[in-house]
Amino acid sequence: MKLRIEHALIVTMNDRDQVIEDGAVVVNGNRLEYVGPADGCPRQDGDRVIDGSRFIAIPGLIDAHNHSPANIFRGLMPARPLEIWRAYWRAALRACGDELFYVSALLGAMEMLKTGCTTNVDHFFGNQNSRYTGAGQAIRAMRDLGLRHVVALTVTDRAYESTIPIDAPKDDTSAEVSRMTSAETKDTQGWLDEIEAFIDELHDPDGLTTCCPGPSAVQRCTDDLLQGVAAISEQRGLPLHIHLAETKSQSLMGPRLYGTTLLKHLDDLGVVRPNLSTAHSLWIEPEDVEIIVERGATPVHNPASNLRLGSGLAPIPHFLAAGGRVALGADGACSNDSQNMFDAMRLAALIHNTRDHDFNHWITARQALSMTTRWGARAFGLDCGVLEPGRLADIVLLKRNTAAFTPLNDVVTQLVFCENGSSVDTVLVNGEIVVDGGRLTKVDEAAVLAEVNRLYDPLRPAIQNEMQDAAVMEPSLAEMYFQVFG
Ligand SMILES: [Zn+2]
Repeated sequence: MKLRIEHALIVTMNDRDQVIEDGAVVVNGNRLEYVGPADGCPRQDGDRVIDGSRFIAIPGLIDAHNHSPANIFRGLMPARPLEIWRAYWRAALRACGDELFYVSALLGAMEMLKTGCTTNVDHFFGNQNSRYTGAGQAIRAMRDLGLRHVVALTVTDRAYESTIPIDAPKDDTSAEVSRMTSAETKDTQGWLDEIEAFIDELHDPDGLTTCCPGPSAVQRCTDDLLQGVAAISEQRGLPLHIHLAETKSQSLMGPRLYGTTLLKHLDDLGVVRPNLSTAHSLWIEPEDVEIIVERGATPVHNPASNLRLGSGLAPIPHFLAAGGRVALGADGACSNDSQNMFDAMRLAALIHNTRDHDFNHWITARQALSMTTRWGARAFGLDCGVLEPGRLADIVLLKRNTAAFTPLNDVVTQLVFCENGSSVDTVLVNGEIVVDGGRLTKVDEAAVLAEVNRLYDPLRPAIQNEMQDAAVMEPSLAEMYFQVFG
């Protein structure tokens, strides 16, 4: 049976930026069969019909950088810069296992779907005691909810202390530093084998799942690992996702380890290709921007996280001025904390304005919406992010009779600057209705929330203990941080 949405205002995000005032969409299976004027729409008896006259239809939003295990740690982490914050966040993970990784992914995915996000890029690292560090649990959760997902398995094979600009950890911290290393790293071949097995077992492009390698960061991986994962992605036609220069401390590791920038080193290894997406891409040089754009790779902007951790402002206007295409992420819920892509879009379109007085460089609403739809899809090789025939049927219907859209002056501007996700009524992913009337169709939300509490409460002491252990590193990391900023 086909599904027909009639008389909606359609924001297609196609190459012509077409907005159709009285439009129709026909969904056949998991694909769009027709997108165009309502009066030219093919109609068949037996079609299921949605009256779209109350709705604005947009492509489902894409969260291009996230860490699903962070959803259970909202409000838990201290307000600190990334290096200190990360020590606590990684410590907290040591107390968690499969059951929590499953419900944590459910938590974030529920918020995403209800606020119009239909694809999540989960740069996953959980706990090495779990198979694939728990990534299979996140996949199960997102399949259960009907959220499309790219799961990039996070890998690192360098000792923690060699990845930060610290000369020698203090004696009293060395035990904790060693625990960080042993909790996260594994030998190069071990990771390559695990990634191959992970993809073989769980990659399901015809379903909702794309599996790919997600090297943690340039400075956290040996060259063998970086080239090994790039080869896997290339051979299998998969994306490759990595953190790049999120903080000033990280960027200093380029000259230290390689005598050049992190990005140039990655490019020297031949890894910067169209399938590469680089989360943050913040403390980088103008030449790095040019290389990323020339190679057709995609930076992923995470405005809320960069503000929350004091990391800085990514050179997003420079990427756009150079002709680059940028994707947008919420980042994990213990560095954002919202998983709402309308928040991310609004921030992306706002936070760069005060840095550049030349208003010609300001990010437009259309660019912000492109980051969250067609450019995000392109970065991960997904056939969604645009409403046009042949594409995957990932559609969001927003109510028009809300404050955000009344009166309606410019739909794209109002989507980015006025909407907060509360107008989302209906969401289709892969042709299936997963949100209907603002409610999730495939899980009982209240039951999930109760289950999260049931599983999380007994673990509170263990999580607190792990974070207390990590606290011993804070003075050294704080000293490093202040040194970095001179
Ligand atoms: Zn991240």
